[in-house]
Amino acid sequence: MCQVLPILFIAKINQDSMQTKISQLKNTLIELTHLSSATALLHWDLETYMPSEGGAVRGKTISILSALVHEKFTSPEFESLITELKGASDAGLLSEEESCVVREVWRDFSREKKLPKEFVEDLSQTTSDAHHVWADAKNKSDFTLFLPTLKKIISLKRRQADYYGYDRSPYDALLDGFEQDTTIQDIDPLFTELKNFLIPFIKQIGDAGEKTRDDLFNGDFDISKQRELCKDVLDQIGFSFAKGRLDEAAHPFTQGFHPSDVRITTRYDQHNVFYSLLSTIHEAGHAFYDMGLSEEHFGLPLGESLSLGIHESQSRLWENHIGRGRPFWMHMYPRLQTVFPKPFADISFNDFYAHLNRVTPSFIRTESDEVTYNMHIIIRLEIEREIIEGSLEVESIPEVWNQKVKQYLGIDVPDDAHGCLQDVHWSGGMFGYFPTYSLGNLYAAQLYGAASRDILNLEEEISRGSFTHLREWLRTRVHVHGRRYAQDALIQKATGEKLNAQHFIDYITKKYSHLYPHS
Ligand code: ZN
Repeated sequence: MCQVLPILFIAKINQDSMQTKISQLKNTLIELTHLSSATALLHWDLETYMPSEGGAVRGKTISILSALVHEKFTSPEFESLITELKGASDAGLLSEEESCVVREVWRDFSREKKLPKEFVEDLSQTTSDAHHVWADAKNKSDFTLFLPTLKKIISLKRRQADYYGYDRSPYDALLDGFEQDTTIQDIDPLFTELKNFLIPFIKQIGDAGEKTRDDLFNGDFDISKQRELCKDVLDQIGFSFAKGRLDEAAHPFTQGFHPSDVRITTRYDQHNVFYSLLSTIHEAGHAFYDMGLSEEHFGLPLGESLSLGIHESQSRLWENHIGRGRPFWMHMYPRLQTVFPKPFADISFNDFYAHLNRVTPSFIRTESDEVTYNMHIIIRLEIEREIIEGSLEVESIPEVWNQKVKQYLGIDVPDDAHGCLQDVHWSGGMFGYFPTYSLGNLYAAQLYGAASRDILNLEEEISRGSFTHLREWLRTRVHVHGRRYAQDALIQKATGEKLNAQHFIDYITKKYSHLYPHS
């Protein structure tokens, strides 16, 4: 017996010191989160209210603060702390929750640590300079103006993939930065299934919808009334203005600082009221996620959102399944007719609903409908992957782009601005980001399907303007878990099955076969 006591005693000391280290880790992470929040607030201000000439100095402030966060996160002290805790976690000395925190921090840390400082600076400078080059090339609709810069970015991204390391494709290393633990092998079957369904489906709709007619909704929509309407919609779906704001930005986005302070932005188009309405609902979906994260775990991985795909699933669910859905508009259409009697007073509900959900192959991703949208992503993914793997020359991008648009959507791209130059992402070096948009659509359809099974009369509730059960379902099934589970496990737990494309295919088939009965 007397020999056991010292062992227990030593074990107790180890446990105490481990607890001290866990506390140190948590305190450092929380401090870093506050610093990152300050940076994010400066960024939010830059995108919303800042005078136009203040951009340059604000960029400098943001880069100094970001560097400070990076330095603290990759410092030798932090490295020894997280390395020791990783060892303790691997040896089974930590609780399940502590291990979870250590696992996620280790993932972020080791990824960041793999990039040499000079490389990070080079990439950051190149992509920051590239923005203007891309904008100018897009303005002039001339890909060749962007070509030398894009080549440099792509060679840097290939190097970045090498630094991270990968088994099969360098694209996996980049994809992992946006959708962790996801490889091209995981998503290939999903995207192939989607493509095989969508191409003939879009063609059938095109054949059935020849008579698709002028834009019924074109009009003059007073912007102050649009503002009121967007606020009203947010109120209806349960967005708390005590914990959030709605502002304006050229490119709508959501910024969460804490579950009690989440800000969304929208953009108003005088001629199209649905741009602001649907983008507001989209961003509200992102905001519900950030508002639903665990306050108790603020600053720690368990209080952070999981991946871009899961984040996008929340916005897509609200934008498409709710905001483009019949039950929601059964509730909201009278209000829309009151605010904008011209043109809506003269449009029947069924015509309105059919027009809102028109399917028209178009050149611009952000203006596309929910059926053709994924084809834009598939085009981008196929090109990105070949570029990063080196099987496609950068010079050939416009030609290949235009061929794919013709082949998949049946339309002729008139120029580069309406083709491969349309999106900002490549100038920012964001290769691997696009697939998360379509993953978001697939997750959204699967989650909405499960919510409809779990909540008795969900659509009837929505048509009465009641969203409480849906919000609560999403909060408890998705939001509160933060990064506790990987995407696969989260979706399995929430919906009872692995991610698959069938739910999205079923949703689209059912909705649009009704809207286009001869398709
Ligand atoms: Zn989004």
